[in-house]
Amino acid sequence: MTRPRLLVVSMSLPVTAKRTGDESWSFTMSPGGLVSALLGLKEFETKWIGWPGVDVHDAVGKETLSIALAEKGCIPVFLEEVCDQYYNGYCNNILWPIFHYLGTPPEYQHYQEGDVVWCHDYHVMLLPQYLKEYNSKMKVGWFLHTPFPSSEMYKTLPSRSDLLHSVLTADLVGFHTYDFARHFVNACTSILGVEATSEGVVDQGKVTRVAVFPIGIEPERFINTSELTEVIQYMKQFKNDFGGRKLILGVDRLDMVKGIPQKYQAFEKFLEENEDWRGKVMLLQIAVPTRNGIGEYQKIKDQCHGLVGRINGRFGSISAVPIIHLDCAIDFNQLCALYAITDVLLVTSLRDGMNLVSSEFVACQNAEKGVLILSEFAGAGQSLGAGALLVNPWNLKEVSTAIGEALNMSPKEKERKHKINFQYVKTHSTQQWADDFMNKLNETTTNGELRN
Ligand code: UDP
Repeated sequence: MTRPRLLVVSMSLPVTAKRTGDESWSFTMSPGGLVSALLGLKEFETKWIGWPGVDVHDAVGKETLSIALAEKGCIPVFLEEVCDQYYNGYCNNILWPIFHYLGTPPEYQHYQEGDVVWCHDYHVMLLPQYLKEYNSKMKVGWFLHTPFPSSEMYKTLPSRSDLLHSVLTADLVGFHTYDFARHFVNACTSILGVEATSEGVVDQGKVTRVAVFPIGIEPERFINTSELTEVIQYMKQFKNDFGGRKLILGVDRLDMVKGIPQKYQAFEKFLEENEDWRGKVMLLQIAVPTRNGIGEYQKIKDQCHGLVGRINGRFGSISAVPIIHLDCAIDFNQLCALYAITDVLLVTSLRDGMNLVSSEFVACQNAEKGVLILSEFAGAGQSLGAGALLVNPWNLKEVSTAIGEALNMSPKEKERKHKINFQYVKTHSTQQWADDFMNKLNETTTNGELRN
């Protein structure tokens, strides 16, 4: 059976390229939840269009990289060439000949009639409009992986109307939570003056469906990996390294929105107020590097290093320090091993679209269950809240109390909470998420055709 074709468009490709020779390239998986999630799609013949994460200036480089990426189902967009493509490419190679009755209309190489184009995230908010202008029959969906803010906040953007108008040209617009969808609809009604209905938004007679699709993970990938001999070996090794101390784990990109300084301050408060636990518990924070070129990100890194130094200085001993902070990504097998032996996963996002790390942690638990402390400001709080300790990350006292509660929780209660979340994670996979989005998109476009 042939699988339906799906073109996924996002700012970055799922792999980041690195040049290893004139004609050779190596690839690493791009960090972030969007990539982890979409790699789970199996029921579509998917092609991914986006930036390969590297500037390539020579023709040989571009060609060899395109060939290497094609094997991975990826089509690169070389962004540093936007001006070149616009001026030499679009203006002089397409508009000039057409205006002079030369040549043939441009070919859009990748789109074929019947394809679905699924645009991902805030980087491509203007894309739906371009796609519909090119072909009004194209089925276009747009999904936002971040929160959509309250309209009071969104209103401050100078280009607020253009972005909304473009997104509304899509057939279906998706969000992780009802709050984000509601904020979007409110922004449309208050800024554009369009009408909201139970289905979505009506702009000049055209209905744009707005719906909620909480993303999931591919649970089997994590469950199966946790059972590998190499991973079990890592579990033993790490337990040994940690010397019998209870493990609190944090796994986040080193981004302001993840609330890592707040996490450290809350842990400091916990150590201050719980003398008995000193030397018996540690916090391991994997702080995956991200957006290094932006000054604010350098500042947050310095702030974290400063806090870790202070807390380790206050509460460390010759044999052990309470916080291990790593400025790096880690190997997937090691990540699964860490999830499996973790006593408490601490998620203190100040804002987060979903937070897949929480679901990955739940999927990897083995015999002894760990406890999830989850920020109420993460989208995941709305799906995994029932099996977690929900906290306001700004309230250091509350987070500190939750750490104590998690460390002292009875095995029976841990098991009970885990069961609730495991059931959710198992039944809300990436594939399910994508199927739901696609079904709704097909239903929406079919209804639209019937209406016309
Ligand atoms: N992750 C990774 N490398 C690491 C640690 C984590 O690629 O060293 C992955 C992790 O498994 C998860 C993703 O990064 O799938 C983070 O997704 P999340 O939704 O939690 O946050 P985002 O980074 O998208 O804001």
